[in-house]
Amino acid sequence: MNLILLGAPGAGKGTQAKLIAKKYNIPHISTGDMLRAAVVNETKLGIKAKTFMDKGELVPDEIVVGIVRERLLGNDCKKGFILDGFPRTVIQADALKKALAETGKIIDVVLNIGVSEGELINRLTGRRSCKNCGKIYHTVFNPPGKENVCDVCGGMLYQRGDDTVETVKNRLKVYCKQTAPLINYYQKEGILKTIDGEKPVDDVECAVIALLDEVA
Ligand code: ADP
Ligand code: ADP
Ligand code: ZN
Repeated sequence: MNLILLGAPGAGKGTQAKLIAKKYNIPHISTGDMLRAAVVNETKLGIKAKTFMDKGELVPDEIVVGIVRERLLGNDCKKGFILDGFPRTVIQADALKKALAETGKIIDVVLNIGVSEGELINRLTGRRSCKNCGKIYHTVFNPPGKENVCDVCGGMLYQRGDDTVETVKNRLKVYCKQTAPLINYYQKEGILKTIDGEKPVDDVECAVIALLDEVA
């Protein structure tokens, strides 16, 4: 199953992608995670990407498309994959279609997770992530048992530098302008499914699984 998770920053894409990846045993491909790893490792690409990410702007299409193209060639993607945070522009969506066509693949389903703007801001400003295993928490909606410590691996939790109110507002603007048009794009292709993302994590997960079981 080749899947795209679409939705604004904070909609719950990463949270759901991790659950789906585990259940269906397919890789979770997050361009945000890949870019943050490049930033931490101070690669040439990471140094360039950081200037955009810090401002809440999109990293240029050619950089992101290059990373995803290479990742999709991985052997583990043969049985399917979940794209989280990619594509984010029409140019990226077209490039993805072309790259997949070269290997005889298509996207089976695009899940659009809908959440209102006020809720997105609450979610993003309270988000915490495990430095070690990447598990996603929220200070109020999904807190760890022990403050700032990961329940799964005992790692330290941290707040992303771009999850401040200022940067979040810009990211939501960028989403509306550059990414929201993809809803129409995939609707026209007849592969878009929409999910109410405002429900609790478990309810959203149930809705996602019900939809995917129909498709798979
Ligand atoms: P995205 O990858 O779309 O940016 P995340 O999965 O990182 O979103 O979730 C953003 C924040 O919202 C995190 O703090 C996460 O714990 C929280 N969250 C995710 N899904 C829900 C939900 N259904 N209800 C409440 N909080 C949620
Ligand atoms: P969120 O889902 O919370 O917005 P991500 O982790 O997906 O955050 O992305 C963080 C940042 O990484 C984005 O604000 C952007 O700068 C960059 N980024 C991630 N994916 C892409 C992409 N497909 N195209 C351009 N920039 C991207
Ligand atoms: Zn952890």
